[in-house]
Amino acid sequence: MKITRIDAFQVRWTPDEKPTQHSAFVRIHTDDGIDGIGEASPMQGGLASLGIIHHDLAPALIGKDPLDHAVLLDTLLHTCVKLGPEGALTGALAALDIAMWDIKGKLTGLPIYKLLGGAWRTKLPFYASIGGNGDRSLDDVLRVVEARMKDQPAAIKIRFDNPRTLLDRDIPGDIAKARAVRKLVGNGFPLAFDANNGFTTGGAIRVGRALEELGFWWFEEPVQHYHVKAMGEVARALDITVSAGEQTYTLAALADLIDAGVRMVQPDIVKMGGITGLVRCAALAHAHGVELVSHQTQPMIGHMANMHVVAAQLQASKPIEWNDPSTRTHAVFENPPKPVDGLFHLPDGPGLGLRVNEAELEKRKV
Ligand code: CA
Repeated sequence: MKITRIDAFQVRWTPDEKPTQHSAFVRIHTDDGIDGIGEASPMQGGLASLGIIHHDLAPALIGKDPLDHAVLLDTLLHTCVKLGPEGALTGALAALDIAMWDIKGKLTGLPIYKLLGGAWRTKLPFYASIGGNGDRSLDDVLRVVEARMKDQPAAIKIRFDNPRTLLDRDIPGDIAKARAVRKLVGNGFPLAFDANNGFTTGGAIRVGRALEELGFWWFEEPVQHYHVKAMGEVARALDITVSAGEQTYTLAALADLIDAGVRMVQPDIVKMGGITGLVRCAALAHAHGVELVSHQTQPMIGHMANMHVVAAQLQASKPIEWNDPSTRTHAVFENPPKPVDGLFHLPDGPGLGLRVNEAELEKRKV
């Protein structure tokens, strides 16, 4: 089997929107007619990753066997390491890896989770991940959280998304919002607080103590992601589980985070490694007794790829992330994943299990 063509393109979320918010997809075609689909992180429309695929990675992959994906992509990571490895390059490689796993599944007629060794579970609970709460009024935070409860999430994460250049902007206000959300959902309901790198070390410890009192489940990315030692210091100072890793792009960098003291890591399948990479991360985390709760905010391909890995993970200790209940790329697929009674059901079709609506994809392709 040989790769004959690789298409790297953006997909519009709605037919007439601006190009700043598009998904970044890749499609790999082979000489026996099977194709696979993948996705890169859509930061800035994913243009940097798509450009790297088009100019640097695709030319090296034409004529190669997609079943050699780990050898091919690890070679390209090392060949093109000076283009990255942070972000743009690893996102590009992740998209290609997911597409090659999709091909492998279609060739064998098996869902990816079977190829990973089987599923511990095929119905996955999720947590509602709610962004933008730093700028909302307390009443608006409560209104948005209440609206998302109707999806029957197993937990809720409130993300603050404050500007990263303004640390500790409003600690009393942030704590007040956390307290109000706790009151709204009741004492038994699992909650998480995502600082989105918004605090200093001291500020984070202060917020973390409040979250411990409020019975929060975890405290995510309290300090800047590049301050790995500080992340570990906060994690070691607090009783609440501190998590990080969605902005970690190599297995070695994830090991540094664990060494620093972080006990829950959150690598993202469309930002680093794809399916192959996330499986390696799960092994690393498991070997250290650290929780792996993957970050995942893309509603279609990323979400589906992530579910296959989580289904095959021995210890999936927390629900999967579900960022966005919008139907922004649903039209591009005939069977978009939707939760039923609070659970995502993993499809048993070959590969990712997603069926492309070709006419709609053609319309939304950029
Ligand atoms: Ca986060």
